[in-house]
Amino acid sequence: MTLDKYNQKRNFNFTEEPKGENVKSKNDLIFIVQKHAASHLHYDFRLEMNGVLKSWAIPKGPSMNPNDKRLAIMVEDHPLSYKDFEGTIPEGHYGAGNVIVWDNGTYTLPEEQSKAATENKLKTDLEKGHIRFILNGKKLKGEFSLVKLKTKKENTWLLIKKKDTFAIESDILEENKSVISNLTLEEFEK
Ligand code: MN
Repeated sequence: MTLDKYNQKRNFNFTEEPKGENVKSKNDLIFIVQKHAASHLHYDFRLEMNGVLKSWAIPKGPSMNPNDKRLAIMVEDHPLSYKDFEGTIPEGHYGAGNVIVWDNGTYTLPEEQSKAATENKLKTDLEKGHIRFILNGKKLKGEFSLVKLKTKKENTWLLIKKKDTFAIESDILEENKSVISNLTLEEFEK
């Protein structure tokens, strides 16, 4: 069960985060990016695959500039229901701090068409340590890659925007409102 780690890290009597259950959807494959004011502010990038969200924590956040390479630490799989989570993880609990959904949308792979083929290819390429995908979000658009670094540290990847018609040099993080509540993280209070 790939959500065991997710469930072990959390006490659902205290956090508002959803319980980890593997739920396959029939809809298009989705991605989300959450902005998370934990002890260190970061962005959580998540891609749907086989009923869970494969997840990376990106300290500096994603960039639409192909010259930027953003460190992305692969973390535990999250449940698909996490896609709508905005809220406050309480003090003293794993990931304590406020979370907003900074971007969301669907994704495809450059070559694959069907959902099953896409998920199979993604799984194989994740194991190889190099994935390419096309985001159709409100902020993030076009092709990106995630490349695993061959360092001693497991789980260290780089997120890089491909040069395409969607690439821009300006800082996409300046668009700082939630795509759900339309609030910034600072404005967001429960
Ligand atoms: Mn996080």
